[in-house]
Amino acid sequence: MGIKANLESVKSTFLNPDCLLVAVSKTKPIEDLREAYDAGIRDFGENKVQEIQEKQALLPSDVRWHMIGHLQSNKVKYIAPFVHLIHGVDSFKLLQEINKQGKKINRVIPCLLQVHIAEEETKFGFDKAELEEMLNSTEFQELTHVQIAGLMGMATFTENHDQVRKEFRGLKQLFEELKTRTLPGFVQLKEISMGMSGDYLIAQEEGSTMVRIGSAIFGSRNVG
Ligand SMILES: *Cc1c(COP(=O)(O)O)cnc(C)c1O
Repeated sequence: MGIKANLESVKSTFLNPDCLLVAVSKTKPIEDLREAYDAGIRDFGENKVQEIQEKQALLPSDVRWHMIGHLQSNKVKYIAPFVHLIHGVDSFKLLQEINKQGKKINRVIPCLLQVHIAEEETKFGFDKAELEEMLNSTEFQELTHVQIAGLMGMATFTENHDQVRKEFRGLKQLFEELKTRTLPGFVQLKEISMGMSGDYLIAQEEGSTMVRIGSAIFGSRNVG
């Protein structure tokens, strides 16, 4: 099947039509992104700084570029001018760097805080205690050029749907709990980015507002 047909079939299964589909185009050639663009996609997800920069220069300016992967602090400056949303903010140090780069170019940069919900130790993200510590710190209250729009999480890569569901549910619970807190004005929790090709239906059942889908649209990847 082609990209357009894949998109239609993915969209037709959505349990929540308001859930945003971020098309994860990492490793894929620009022609594939154009095909998705022509089929109506405006939100693209990439996980490498150089690749997102290169592709951004080649597609129309109404594309919203989502940085979904692990981001190194020293590379924030390259995407700060155009990135629509940084999904994988997993440390206060990174958030401070995003704030610094935003300040330099007078831009408030939207971010999601990545929470570690999976069993695997390899996945990035804050655990609950780290999150608490950051939210309560004085330095956090002083940020001026970031907007925290919600949370992001990746479930364990497993066939065990109960486990995946449990992890997504935990993220949603944390999200709801944080919403009851008094937090600085730049924290406006609206989005939960959870769900990929293999688990987006479970994620939508558990309250996802954004799914990041790659292989179900563009086909499998060799790398990335
Ligand atoms: C690659 C990637 C995805 C998409 O994965 P698929 O299984 O191809 O849908 C989603 N989120 C992140 C963070 C990724 O790195």
